[in-house]
Amino acid sequence: MKTVHSLLCGVIMSSVLTAAAQSSRSGHWAIVLHGGAGVIKRSEMDAKTEAAYRASLTRALEAGAQVLNRGGASMDAIEASIRILEDDPLFNAGRGAVFAADGRNELDAAMMDGATLRAGAVADVTRTRHPISLARAVMEKSPHVFLVGPGADQFSVYAGLEQVDPSFFFTERRWQALIKQLKKEGLPIPPRPKGAPPPPTKAQAELEPAHAREYGTVGMVALDRSGDVAAGTSTGGTQAKRWGRVGDSPLIGAGTYASNQSCAVSATGTGEYFIRLTVARTVCALVQYKGYKLQQAADEVIHKELAAIHGDGGVIAIAPDGQMAWSFNTPGMFRAKLAEGGKVQVGIYNDEP
Ligand code: ASP
Repeated sequence: MKTVHSLLCGVIMSSVLTAAAQSSRSGHWAIVLHGGAGVIKRSEMDAKTEAAYRASLTRALEAGAQVLNRGGASMDAIEASIRILEDDPLFNAGRGAVFAADGRNELDAAMMDGATLRAGAVADVTRTRHPISLARAVMEKSPHVFLVGPGADQFSVYAGLEQVDPSFFFTERRWQALIKQLKKEGLPIPPRPKGAPPPPTKAQAELEPAHAREYGTVGMVALDRSGDVAAGTSTGGTQAKRWGRVGDSPLIGAGTYASNQSCAVSATGTGEYFIRLTVARTVCALVQYKGYKLQQAADEVIHKELAAIHGDGGVIAIAPDGQMAWSFNTPGMFRAKLAEGGKVQVGIYNDEP
């Protein structure tokens, strides 16, 4: 049985802890988002495409900012922004996702709430228009954290989320990129998906831009005025993936992590490396247990640990005291950030601030 003394100590300790936690809260909101990392070079990007990416990132950032500005929660801001990016064919998430080798779009997503350490994730879903909302529904409406494949699609119907025909996610650019990669690897070409628009002529198909590595995963971390951080990530994974491959994005601790005790992180890059290093959680652990500044923690994991195993990609991060960071070891990462009262900062290449 607890004595009066121990109860009192408990009360005093918890108010000390609350005060300590609150003193490190900024009281202002902030957002960082990414749209994928990879070999993104100025020399290979025309001005129109570049402007389109910058405009899309800004639009998504502003949607989250609006939520936070009216006192909304970081989880709500993330869901609002990522839904916009999932609908945007420029990015490898939702519509515009890369194709698996079997010719399907297999979508992965995760969300984590830093205030409660609750999380939800899905992998290999094929019919949910907004996988990020499905990840959140797993967290809020199921007793589980991670659902995969047909079961996740089934839960999506139960959760009342918008269902679409798999061809909704089809884009010609990603399809042509898949065909190019499969030919190069000597793998069989799957039939054009049912419901896809009629095929282009050979000449038109050759005009579709295809990049060496089909980047475009989207992710966001946010801090709300209550001092709560959260993280979300959504992706089609890696192009021509096989055998039910799942990357880091939906794995809590690898591609997505959030805790009010340290920070919130969303990653992008070749997932196999991020899984092995539990990148997102490691960044937060350096902050929590070693007292690293957020930028220092992100750089340590990306430029030392990831580089040491020849992994490629990057992270975005945010802390309850308002620190924001991004770090990547690729020529580019689509990214944007904004703190309450500040100016939108958008970047693509590694020579931008
Ligand atoms: N990390 C994602 C995956 O491996 C892909 C990416 O971020 O580009 O599935």
